[in-house]
Amino acid sequence: MPEFADTARNEKLKQRLRFYEDLGLAPFYRDRVATSSGTVRAESLTSVSVPASPIVEESTLPKPARKPPAAAPDLRSGKPFVQRTSSGPSLFEATSNLAAETLAQIREDLGECTRCKLHRTRNTIVFGDGNPKAQLVFVGEGPGADEDAQGLPFVGRAGKLLTQMIEAMGLKRSDVYICNVVKCRPPGNRQPEPDEVAACSPFLFRQLDSIKPKVIVCLGATAFQTLLGTSRSISHYRGQWIDYRGYQMLPTYHPAYLLRNPAAKADVWKDLQKVMAELGLEVKKKAK
Ligand code: SF4
Repeated sequence: MPEFADTARNEKLKQRLRFYEDLGLAPFYRDRVATSSGTVRAESLTSVSVPASPIVEESTLPKPARKPPAAAPDLRSGKPFVQRTSSGPSLFEATSNLAAETLAQIREDLGECTRCKLHRTRNTIVFGDGNPKAQLVFVGEGPGADEDAQGLPFVGRAGKLLTQMIEAMGLKRSDVYICNVVKCRPPGNRQPEPDEVAACSPFLFRQLDSIKPKVIVCLGATAFQTLLGTSRSISHYRGQWIDYRGYQMLPTYHPAYLLRNPAAKADVWKDLQKVMAELGLEVKKKAK
């Protein structure tokens, strides 16, 4: 069996694959064993013994030992989350090429989900809305009462403010994609609990990998902390670009926070101007 000359890179790649499996991304695992012409093959990704056949059946592979997910990035270091190797693409870029799910496939996989206790009190699953090929994705926390009733994200008061912000950027809602960390409304609009985030966030990661946006804007602490796997306060990072697995990610305040603290709108507008510049949109002096 051929081996990578760079064993350290091989080990990192294996950790990344285990991380995906721990997230429940079985299709990812199947892809890498079943793709005969793909850039990455099972035998080159793992140290398990496999037959010499060009197509390896999943059932013939020993099941990898479960390990804890990869450690969260050390934000204090100031280093980007994606560590590039000395040559070639980042490890994430190499693996993400294998994922080619559509949003419809991910929604179908979610089904009438009962993976966490939020299913008991929801009326509607709020999967996401917008352009499946958007360059800009907004990620919020979870649906509220209006969203739960309509099945669409950000349609209540906070949603109207987000729509105004998008239009102030010179875009339409249909130009961007909007989704949340959890797809079902937490009772009383409380924050999602860790087990709920753990159950639902793999679907968010898959949505992002399907859309492959140029920019991800995290609306509020829950989105920021979930994507980066950190418990750090968003206030230290608001308005700063973070290299999130090869995507440009920028955390800012949630529109619901702006409804309670209108003075913070100016900060958010500054953040959105950075996004506009990154996307090549005309930067205006003031929001309407
Ligand atoms: S919040 Fe997510 S994981 Fe929980 S029941 Fe709803 S769709 Fe499923």
